[in-house]
Amino acid sequence: MSPTITEVDVYDIRFPTSEQLDGSDAMNPDPDYSAAYVVLRTDSPDGLAGYGLCFTIGRGNDVVAAAISTLRPYVVGRPVDSVTGDLGAFYRLLTHDSQLRWLGPEKGVMHMAAGAVVNAAWDLAAREAGKPVWDLLASMSPDQLVDLVDFRYLSDALTRDEALDILRRAEPGRAARAEELRRDGYPAYTTEPGWLGYSDEKLTRLAKEAIAAGFQQIKLKVGADLGDDIRRMRLARAAVGPDIRIAVDANQRWDVAEAVEWMQALAPYDPYWIEEPTSPDDVLAHAAVRAGQPIKVATGEHVANRVVFKQLLQAGAVDFVQIDAARVAGVNENIAILLLAAKFGVPVCPHAGGVGLCELVQHLAMFDYVAVSGSLDDRVIEYVPHLHEHFTDPVVMENGRYQAPSAPGFSARMVPETLAAYRFPDGPVWQERQEMTR
Ligand SMILES: [Mg+2]
Repeated sequence: MSPTITEVDVYDIRFPTSEQLDGSDAMNPDPDYSAAYVVLRTDSPDGLAGYGLCFTIGRGNDVVAAAISTLRPYVVGRPVDSVTGDLGAFYRLLTHDSQLRWLGPEKGVMHMAAGAVVNAAWDLAAREAGKPVWDLLASMSPDQLVDLVDFRYLSDALTRDEALDILRRAEPGRAARAEELRRDGYPAYTTEPGWLGYSDEKLTRLAKEAIAAGFQQIKLKVGADLGDDIRRMRLARAAVGPDIRIAVDANQRWDVAEAVEWMQALAPYDPYWIEEPTSPDDVLAHAAVRAGQPIKVATGEHVANRVVFKQLLQAGAVDFVQIDAARVAGVNENIAILLLAAKFGVPVCPHAGGVGLCELVQHLAMFDYVAVSGSLDDRVIEYVPHLHEHFTDPVVMENGRYQAPSAPGFSARMVPETLAAYRFPDGPVWQERQEMTR
């Protein structure tokens, strides 16, 4: 008999990263990297559970946690096999509650909450199957995979049959590509040198260290002050030489004209892409930025759902699609986005870096390589080297490449000590700080 899901535990976990300016950019000067962390408990005697999370940058993490709790009635009391046996149906159940859907629809806090629970269910399914999520997905048939996707609002750009064709075309090479990933890993780039709050000296040192560690691409935050950005871009280019890619990221800071002007000024230093030049909702503005200056355009970490990704692709507004494991409604919606990108021939370069995001999204990129796009051309996963120690199966970075996870699950489980220490506001890490400000 299948075990039953007995509880949805939700934790408000926050890390005081703003004290070091890690994660600082033009729009987010003082983030405290945080996770609304979910555990799907079961009554299985072996302690089987599923782990997932939403990433936030501090205040509001409790709002996401509350949104996750509203989904309890759909989860508690269900046999595990009714969830893991039809994850397409489970995803639709969570995203189509008519009263909760009103809060989006299919965007924002409620959608992120659904994503955390969907991802926890994938973690549960992968643990049950004894496989990492990327491998579980890559062992499913094209028909099983398209059943996971909600094609509503997509069929003007991607039909179920077209998706099946994409997946069937990739089928013959699956085993060889999975083997290659296990041997060589998946290419990464690092954002570590480029946080906006770092000094010139720290930027130069970290850029050189990144190249020595094997990375072929780094990223700088830009958008606060043009003079500073020109100086930082010049320093970074001098540090890494002409052959290393330097992406830049404005974190939504600009209007179209400003984006065009700013990037024309940075163009002599050969930036590889401009990420989030403007509002993530503004498809036409991205198209205008792409047309108005010479640097390639990337976006996606704040794109609310598959519908907006569809429009970005239809409008020819982006050169790179940046999926995020915890912004949309979990694995299922990201499969839709991977299929859309494959249909339009646009490479996927996942967003990561926030707590747990590297752990999660590596699985989606590896699945994409094995079973969807079949390509590593112009594809890299973002990497930031902090907070991995809080996970039981942290990412493994070797020579600038993510090593393929081998442990069962979605790599999202946090160590128990972290849950105790960083719980907001009553964990000792936060209690200490409250006492200091008293
Ligand atoms: Mg970014």
